[in-house]
Amino acid sequence: MSVFASKDFDDHESVLFFHDRNTGLKAIIAVHDTTLGPALGGTRMWAYRNDEEALEDVLRLSRGMTYKSSLAGLNLGGGKSVIIGNARTDKSEALFEAFGRAVDTLGGKYIAAEDVGTSVADLEAARHTTPHIAGISEGKVGDPSPATAWGVFNGLLAAAEFRLKRPDLKGVRVAVQGLGHVGYGLCEYLAEAGAELVVSDIYDKLVNKAVQNLGAVAVAPETITSQDVDIFAPCALGAILNDKTIPDMKATIVAGSANNQLAEPRHGIDLMNRNILYAPDYAINAGGIIIISHEGPGFNRQKAMQEVAGIHQTALRIFERAARDNKPTGEIADTLAWERIEAARARKHENTKIRKITG
Ligand code: NAD
Repeated sequence: MSVFASKDFDDHESVLFFHDRNTGLKAIIAVHDTTLGPALGGTRMWAYRNDEEALEDVLRLSRGMTYKSSLAGLNLGGGKSVIIGNARTDKSEALFEAFGRAVDTLGGKYIAAEDVGTSVADLEAARHTTPHIAGISEGKVGDPSPATAWGVFNGLLAAAEFRLKRPDLKGVRVAVQGLGHVGYGLCEYLAEAGAELVVSDIYDKLVNKAVQNLGAVAVAPETITSQDVDIFAPCALGAILNDKTIPDMKATIVAGSANNQLAEPRHGIDLMNRNILYAPDYAINAGGIIIISHEGPGFNRQKAMQEVAGIHQTALRIFERAARDNKPTGEIADTLAWERIEAARARKHENTKIRKITG
């Protein structure tokens, strides 16, 4: 397994592998870029089939965090961590304490938070052994998923406004894939706004809850991407926009929380060619990182949620520029995010030069 030759390696600053004999912890932490600040990003626990799959995920996800925080206007860099294991059977307090020790070795360059397969309780265990943990009860933010769902809802509203010319979502049909922490919260906002829900999850319990409480229509997981709806909202795992799913898609908008929705960048062009408006994943799922950036003394949830709602404007800015330049929305989001990092690098470089001259 090679890190530097991996197709997902993108000038990452550091990639560290950890093993703890006592608990069986196997983890990888990737720090992509710290130009704008410490690398903040979630910890994913997943039963990867092999180490290569885990490495690929952590490299892609950490890079995504750099772009996400930059586009959201935060002074944070991009990083991510993965724990190789089954989140339903392999968890223990000791495992997350060992993970905390791993995080601590980076001395604050990487700050861990919740992600797929990990919970606030897990991170609180990691907090026993490192202060570099965000999104826990102590910092008053707790689970960032409700803020992520609020941000996705605002991004989705912007997409409906732009493409469907709709001021609201009454009667708009939305297919939601994945009814976890974010997906279910998004469904609640959508139901309240009068949207018609079509849902799927691999866990029947979650599907039944959406059917009973929100009047959703349940469909088989393998059919959710081709439902006859206005909007497809992927809220499960990545790479769902691919050669197999795009040709059968009937929705004219894709707006959801899942990270890395495009299997490859070229799928952004496929969507554009099919006249499907794609709300770039990291642009609209930044609610969690935005609320976490507010953590600390004087934390004001209402103020933080207002800032999260700003995702509506960010999304519109992307859609408008993409339409103007006839470019895929994902490319425009990348450009906007990267412009901010380049400007910060140029400023740092300038300051170093001044210090050298004056010092
Ligand atoms: P979660 O684990 O709580 O929920 C994911 C759900 O997807 C689960 O209920 C799971 O059963 C379901 N699922 C998995 N495979 C599926 C399939 N093939 N078909 C249908 N359902 C399937 O995770 P979450 O926190 O809700 O995050 C969802 C997505 O949003 C992830 O991609 C995550 O990286 C991303 N995201 C989450 C946050 C956050 O604040 N939690 C922030 C940004 C991005």
